[in-house]
Amino acid sequence: MPLKICLFFILIFCGFTVYGVQEIDSLPLDCHKQSVKSVNFEDLQWMFRERVRVESQDQIPTHLDFFIENTTGIKSQKYSFDTASIKKENLLALSNMTDDPLLVWGNTLAQEIENFKSLKDSLAKVFNPKGYRLKFLQNERGLARQMELLNRGRSMTALSLHNFNLAVDVGIYRRGRYLRRSNLYARLGSLAKDLGAFWGGDFVGFPDAGHIQAFSNGANLVQKFPGLAFEYIRFKEIYEQNYASAFGRGQADLVEDTRQLIVELNKNRVQKICACKQAIPIPKELSAEWFEQFKHVSTGYVYVHEQSGWVYIKNRDSGYFYPLGVYSFAAKN
Ligand SMILES: [Zn+2]
Repeated sequence: MPLKICLFFILIFCGFTVYGVQEIDSLPLDCHKQSVKSVNFEDLQWMFRERVRVESQDQIPTHLDFFIENTTGIKSQKYSFDTASIKKENLLALSNMTDDPLLVWGNTLAQEIENFKSLKDSLAKVFNPKGYRLKFLQNERGLARQMELLNRGRSMTALSLHNFNLAVDVGIYRRGRYLRRSNLYARLGSLAKDLGAFWGGDFVGFPDAGHIQAFSNGANLVQKFPGLAFEYIRFKEIYEQNYASAFGRGQADLVEDTRQLIVELNKNRVQKICACKQAIPIPKELSAEWFEQFKHVSTGYVYVHEQSGWVYIKNRDSGYFYPLGVYSFAAKN
């Protein structure tokens, strides 16, 4: 059995057997405090991602600085939005500095986006009932817009395939008038499926007949492009809350896609170095000068002190210390 599939079953096993069906959150992966060595800059990118809540466009950092202090001294990496090129090693930094996932992942997904575009063209050709017209309403969508839709209850997910240009909303028109409901949407959906796409009308819990996407769900996308876990991870808590509350209502079947996504993200993070959730007081050994030295260098930074086992994560005006740890599945008790 390939390692990945094997791991998948272990996770399912942990999720449902160790914790039991009574457990609301059946898939808990937690950052457990422990001493770590050989932290790398990629770990710091993730820590920033996972611990900094960016609520609006003006909180997105324009510069990021990463520092790792250990017995050999201090190593640092600097990134700025202007100079960060779309190189693989800069993707995560860049991703921390923009709310446009396509700016970061557009190259990675170029082939998929292209394929989806031709699929749409084919769909427009094969769908031609007399007197009706098909219009593609929206492709691309920034994260801010997605959040707005989520908050207004218009979308059920924090990150949608729309954000990657891998979903489209479709309208059917008759004599120039948009049809909100029509059996033709099911016909369109079936044609889309014949072409290899996925139809929103099949969504369990939140069917969306005018929606077509290139992957069955976010979990599927992350499975094929593991790097995208970095985009999904900052919404993990939202997914976990959604899953837990549906599970609590006895409606876990409605959020199966969410469960799969959580499993996929957990697979990606297990055994990785992390900043544990609960912030801690300022370490005693630090002086006012320690804070002073960063005053002018950054809009966001992460400082890891390996031996002392803490990490400081700062964005704009707020910064917190956290214990360093490693992600693992919580043992019961
Ligand atoms: Zn849609």
